[in-house]
Amino acid sequence: MCRLKKYDDDLPQTSIIITFHNEARSTLLRTIVSVLNRSPEHLIKEIILVDDFSDNPEDGAALRAIRKVKVIRNSKREGLMRSRVRGADAAVAPVLTFLDSHVECNVHWLEPLLQRVKEDPTRVVCPVIDVISMDTFQYIGASADLRGGFDWNLVFKWEYLGHAERSARLSDPTQVIRTPMIAGGLFSMDRKYFSKLGKYDMKMDVWGGENLEISFRLQPKLTPIIKKPNYEIQLVTEISYHSRVWQCGGSLEIVPCSRVGHVFRKRHPYTFPGGSGAVFARNTRRAAEVWMDDYKELYYRSQPLAKQVDYGDISERVDLRQKLHCKPFRWYLEHVYPELQVPALKEASHVIKQGVRCLDTMGHLVDGSLGLYPCHYTGGNQEWRFENGLIRHHRLCVSLSSEDRVTAVLAACDPTDDAQIWRRQGPLIRHAKLDACLDTARPALYIEQCDEDKPSQQFSF
Ligand code: UDP
Ligand code: MN
Repeated sequence: MCRLKKYDDDLPQTSIIITFHNEARSTLLRTIVSVLNRSPEHLIKEIILVDDFSDNPEDGAALRAIRKVKVIRNSKREGLMRSRVRGADAAVAPVLTFLDSHVECNVHWLEPLLQRVKEDPTRVVCPVIDVISMDTFQYIGASADLRGGFDWNLVFKWEYLGHAERSARLSDPTQVIRTPMIAGGLFSMDRKYFSKLGKYDMKMDVWGGENLEISFRLQPKLTPIIKKPNYEIQLVTEISYHSRVWQCGGSLEIVPCSRVGHVFRKRHPYTFPGGSGAVFARNTRRAAEVWMDDYKELYYRSQPLAKQVDYGDISERVDLRQKLHCKPFRWYLEHVYPELQVPALKEASHVIKQGVRCLDTMGHLVDGSLGLYPCHYTGGNQEWRFENGLIRHHRLCVSLSSEDRVTAVLAACDPTDDAQIWRRQGPLIRHAKLDACLDTARPALYIEQCDEDKPSQQFSF
């Protein structure tokens, strides 16, 4: 379906901005060559390389010979935020496209991005990020059913689209995916809009936190969950769209027809002056202090050590927030990221007990089974919340295996997925749709014909 798409003949030009610090020359070259080979010639105004004070100045200088390439070198290590802003300030094309220094642009990666920005310059658009194997450098396609999100530790993570949204996409998988957060490395946006929105926080260092901060500023419009394409439902959704205003304006989306491979690495191949933990905490704190209002406490509760890290002066970013008339963070949580579970500041979680043992995730994640484990009453893997029929452990919920429909497994919480809906009935935990109850008679939790007299079905909460 992507191949059938037509793009305007008069798409805006873009300046490609690539910052790097001690990047391997091979991957850097691969990045640049793929941009030149896989983009329509007339759409690339320039490729601006910002050498963030790499040990060897020749890494960048050697690339000057390539057409369209401009190299800027920092006289000291600035980190990726200030380096990117330096590149953006030097750029002249109407659209900025930021790339990491170890990517491979795939065929027709650029046109879908520029088309979206042309139609609406307040859109910030990302390609689907494929995987370049860090061991073989092979290009491996990634799932397009993902978007960006985070937990209260404020670390970016990929999350699967909900059941309903996945179904809605089946008819046209090329439609864009609204995302609460961007991965940060690869995106295009209007150059003037980048300035208007406050570029990046120039007091953030090295790496991390800037994607959170730009995502809070750019508040996406959510795709409505439309199960049946029914005229009436669409009309209602349309109305609810129009009544919405963004936190600071703009929107954030992933464009599935644009694909760029990226070398995901296990650790950072460069130093963090001050230590990576402290730098990341400082950057994240800056984002939290400026944008999250009282909800920053949930971050500190999750990462208590962050409170000890100095975050410097944030007055300029606070002024920016005021100048842009941004909405409170509560609005973001309600409208943009309603899937993020917001613990009430004093709310206690439950244990689900059978004798001296408690329901436990056993450290498993999605598709993993559950079991009983001696109660320790310290939360951890035994922390559960009952919420609208869901039995929730943070973002994971108790569901049924799609294979045997009998084994209980963990799934990404989705209140529209019938398999995840339960009802408490006396000591029983009964499946809302099936006449079956959670049972612990086997090592892995499963469902069985309900029987209130069976000790293996009796829980206390
Ligand atoms: N980078 C930089 N200066 C720094 C740290 C990183 O210019 O102090 C560059 C790095 O070379 C890369 C980009 O910023 O092109 C993003 O960093 P990285 O790829 O390490 O982040 P990740 O993809 O792992 O999140
Ligand atoms: Mn990278």
